[in-house]
Order: sequence, then structure tokens, then C-alpha cells
Amino acid sequence: MPLTHYITLFLYFVSCMIATAEINRDNKIIPQSIEAEVLIALTYYPELKDTPIEFRFKDNIRKSTMQAQPTYKSFFTSRENRSYIILISRKIQIEDEKFTVADIPKDVLIGWIGHELGHIMDYRGRSKVGMLIFGLKYLFSGTHIKEVERAADTFAINHGMGEYILRTKNFILDNANFSERYKAKLRRLYMSPEEVMHLIQEQQ
Ligand SMILES: [Zn+2]
Repeated sequence: MPLTHYITLFLYFVSCMIATAEINRDNKIIPQSIEAEVLIALTYYPELKDTPIEFRFKDNIRKSTMQAQPTYKSFFTSRENRSYIILISRKIQIEDEKFTVADIPKDVLIGWIGHELGHIMDYRGRSKVGMLIFGLKYLFSGTHIKEVERAADTFAINHGMGEYILRTKNFILDNANFSERYKAKLRRLYMSPEEVMHLIQEQQ
């Protein structure tokens, strides 16, 4: 691809993004240690300006590294007034070795957060009943998990975060420290790096 293409693409994404200074901090709770990365990811989602989101570390999340979910009180408010929590596991799932968020490269972490924000975009479009059914289906249906994870990645890619998403996937798949089980799960349920590249190219 000629250089001008890259420049045009770059300018396109920059024009879609908002400045970090424009992010509404009053309705966001962000731990200091990941503040820079969260703010970068948020610049790609101007629609989430008025959406309250709390990023919260948790000692252990069952079967995942990060998890986006509506808050409990969101079930009692209108769709526009919902708030969300993104739980972040202190320890990353690896069989023997200890691995924390601090060990993850900055870009990879931004991609990871971008994916979770993609889930929030998806939740925003769902009704209360829709969300309950959604939650149940996620627990029991592999096909549904696949759809949901693809939706989150697609939101992130369409918001200009494709390169970050790609880095996050490659980081896990190329990393000897991650267990084969974890990688197999990623391959089975998530969009492949090739597909992500394909979607990035389609945008051009
Ligand atoms: Zn996900």
C-alpha cells in the first residue's frame, strides 16, 4: 500500500477520534495504574462520553481477563441512563506463571480495553429483557459467545482500533507464556488475526 494511503487512513482515524481532554472524566472511574491506556481507548469512542463507566480491578475473574457488564442498578433505569463496569483481573490467566496487567505492553492493554468498550457499545443497543436473555445465552451457548465476541471486536475495529485489536490477539497467540488451553479458547471463540486484518482492509 502506498504511503499516502497510510497517511489518509491515519488522518481519517484522527478526525474520528476526540481529544483526550474532551473525555468526560466526571462519569468515569479509572485506576491510576491504567489511566493512560484507558483514556487512549476512550478517545476512539466519542459516543461513550455521557456513559458512566467504572474500571475496577478484581483479584480473580472466572475464566477471563477483563469483563464488561452493566451495573446492577442499570436494570432499574432507562437505557440512556445505564452505567457499566469493566472488571480487570489482577492476575492474567496462565497456568503456572504469574502475570499481571503491569506486564502487558501498553498497546496490547489499549486493544484489550478497546474490545471491552466494544461490548459496552453492544449492550447499549439492547433492551432490558434483551440483556437478560443475552446474559443467560452467554453462559450456555458457545455460538452466542462467538457472536458477542465478534460484535465487540467489530465495534472496536469500526471505531479505528483495528491495529490495537490485532496486537492484542497476536500478543496472546504468539506468547509462549500463555497456556495452550487459553490460546485454543481464543482461536475457537474469537475473531482470528487474519479476519481482523481483512476488516481493517475493508475500511480503506
Ligand atoms: Zn469480550
